Formats: sequence, C-alpha cells, structure tokens
Amino acid sequence: MTTLLIDMDSVIVDLMSAWCRRYNADWNDNLTPEDILTWEWEKYVKPECGRRIYQYLDEPGMFLHLEPLPHAIEVLERLSNRYEILIVTSSRRTAMAEKDAWVTRHLPFIGRKNLILAHRKDRICGDLLFDDAPHNLESFQRTGRTAVAMDYPYNRQVACLRVKGWLEFEQLIHRLFPESGGGGGGEHDGAAQDSSCHCGRRAGGDQRRDLGEADGTGSGGGRSG
Ligand SMILES: [Mg+2]
Repeated sequence: MTTLLIDMDSVIVDLMSAWCRRYNADWNDNLTPEDILTWEWEKYVKPECGRRIYQYLDEPGMFLHLEPLPHAIEVLERLSNRYEILIVTSSRRTAMAEKDAWVTRHLPFIGRKNLILAHRKDRICGDLLFDDAPHNLESFQRTGRTAVAMDYPYNRQVACLRVKGWLEFEQLIHRLFPESGGGGGGEHDGAAQDSSCHCGRRAGGDQRRDLGEADGTGSGGGRSG
C-alpha cells in the first residue's frame, strides 16, 4: 500500500495563525502568516522580540489547542481508506505529549500509533512527504521521492509540487497514485498489513514533472510572488 507521510504543524494544524495571534497580542504588532517570507521568523518580528518569538512554541497548551486547517480532517479520513497515513512531525520536547493528544482526539482513524516524532523525515519510509518546511521538502526530494509543499510564502523557493489546501492535495494524490487500493490504514491494521518499504521510489515516474506543468501545481523554480 502506498504510504503518505504527512507533516503536522502548518499542514494539518494551523500553527501559523495561532503563533501570530500570540505574538501580536504581546508585542502590539499586526504580523500575518503572509508576512513571513523565510523560515527565520525572527527577521519579521519587532527587534525587541527577536528570537523570543520561538519561546511561544514552549508554552503549555500551544499545540494542544491548535485548529485544524480547512478540510484537513475530512480529507485525511478519506485518504486513510486508500493509503497508509503516517503523521511525521518534528517536535520540541514540551510539545510531544500535546501532539499525541491532538492526534488521538482529532484523528482517531489514524491514531497515535501512526504518529512519528522525527527531525530527519528523509529517513522515514514512505512514498511521499507533505510538508511546509523548506529543509524537509528539499532533503526528502534528495532521496528520489516526491515532496509536496503546503504553499506558504516562506517555502516558495523550493522547486517541488505544491498545493494551496487539502482538497487540492487530495486530487493530486489520486492522480499520483491511482493504483493504490483500499484496505485502510488506521491504528489497528495500518503498518501491519504491508511492511514493505518504498524508499527511493518516486510517484509515477515522471508524473511529478508532468502533473506540475499540466495542472499548475508545480512551483517551477523560484518564488512566484
Ligand atoms: Mg510543518
């Protein structure tokens, strides 16, 4: 069964909006996710805040109460009937338990047993990675596999497939892996049904390039604005 590796922060959950809200309230600013143009957030906050922007990520409750991005849960539930879904998230130590609880509460059809805490996502077996972090997208592609970006200004320099939301991602997956049958993943039978590893296989040969050019889902190179 085709295995999809799905990032959590800013892909399943709306971390960006919550982070901006907390910063704006404390520092009397009007920062929005669209203002963040690179991975280095400290460049876009007030100088007196600087790297303290990252301290919000250690606040108790920060990750526990994040909202899902539009259509994330419903699309994940549909995809889980045809593909094996693994949630792969790098996590600060303080957030691990909260992410575990979030998946248990909101994604019971995937389950906490399919939650992987990892910084080196390029070392995890799976056919495709859906992520927002430039370094994860780039390192995963270097393994010869397919990376799909959740589109944000800060990752537009990465040349890979990209989508603006979950409904678009669902359509893309069905085109990339039309052969994948049913059977479902889930906490109880997912990994046990098919232990084969598909590392190094790119989805559908040249489909990455073809789909990107034909459907406008590819970023090409460089930032498009
Ligand atoms: Mg992320």
